[in-house]
Amino acid sequence: MSIKEYKNKTVLKGMNLAQITKWCESINQSSFRAKQIYQWMYKHGVSDSKSMNNISKELRDIIDQKCIINTLSVEKIDQSSIEKTQKILFKTHDGHFIESVSMVENDRHTICISSQIGCNVDCDFCATASMGLIRNLLAGEIIDQAIAIRELVKEPITNVVFMGMGEPFLNYERVINTADILHDHNGFGLGAKRITISTAGIVPMIERFIKENHKYKLAISLNATEDDTRKKLMPLNQSWPINQLIKSASRFAARKNHNIMFEYVLLKGINDSKKDAIRLAHLIKGIDCKVNVIPYNETDGQYKRPSNEVIESFLKTLDEHRKGFRILVRWSKGEDISAACGQLAVNN
Ligand code: SAH
Repeated sequence: MSIKEYKNKTVLKGMNLAQITKWCESINQSSFRAKQIYQWMYKHGVSDSKSMNNISKELRDIIDQKCIINTLSVEKIDQSSIEKTQKILFKTHDGHFIESVSMVENDRHTICISSQIGCNVDCDFCATASMGLIRNLLAGEIIDQAIAIRELVKEPITNVVFMGMGEPFLNYERVINTADILHDHNGFGLGAKRITISTAGIVPMIERFIKENHKYKLAISLNATEDDTRKKLMPLNQSWPINQLIKSASRFAARKNHNIMFEYVLLKGINDSKKDAIRLAHLIKGIDCKVNVIPYNETDGQYKRPSNEVIESFLKTLDEHRKGFRILVRWSKGEDISAACGQLAVNN
């Protein structure tokens, strides 16, 4: 389908119930059809109007001719030979590529989805940064990653993380819209705590997230304990330094049922010393949180993963100094297919 044709059509996928209702009214269709269309798209994941067998032929024809339901095509699937991890490459209508990851372990099926094509936050260690930002994904393109994976991988999806390509909080409304559909019982029906949005630390958007009182989990990529180091790794630290970020994070976590996760990518010789571990423990003490230590997944760049001894010693020191928080180590999945954290990048 050409871009022109796409643009002249209404992209139904990604719309919430209120938006579909409005669209139904605009074409003089009864508004109760909206719920049926919503369920067909999100609960049942149908890819065209033909299967919508409880709506009239007339409306099905309109959808068929004037609307887009499928926003992505599956281009390639890489299956890890070590774990039940798959990386899915999707193509958008305008010829760009994005990636998502499906990870099955015991009774958990976590999917990691993208929110932007590329990214302009420019974290020095992240492969996606090399793409720059091409554009924000449409809500339909974000939810379609989950719909396609639900179809491809038979294990029911239990968790969704917005940790693929892009900075979710720079495509805020569409990401929240998608999370709402994932949460809604007429959509995917996932518990709010099974949906995690990860941000590099866009403080004003964290504040907005707090103000709007969303129930989804929040992860913050902290990655360093001193502004100088963090600034080099993550240029956005110039706008929102560590103390501001920690303040917002504690405000978020101070409310009941809103604990937070700090992600800390361990980079050899950069942020992996015992002193770093002690500083980290002090920085977040008193915040109801979890620390997710992620040994770096090497890409083509200059950064390296610390040795196992250094990782162990960092974790031991962190544990000795920890006050209240929990520690989790994320040995990333899908390294053999470049599907691990920070390894998602495609030539667009
Ligand atoms: N932009 C968002 C979400 C995408 S990155 C964010 O920054 O949070 C998801 C996580 O992977 C972040 O915590 C990031 O710091 C981490 N990450 C990026 N590149 C990595 C790499 N090569 N190895 C390990 N973790 C990496």
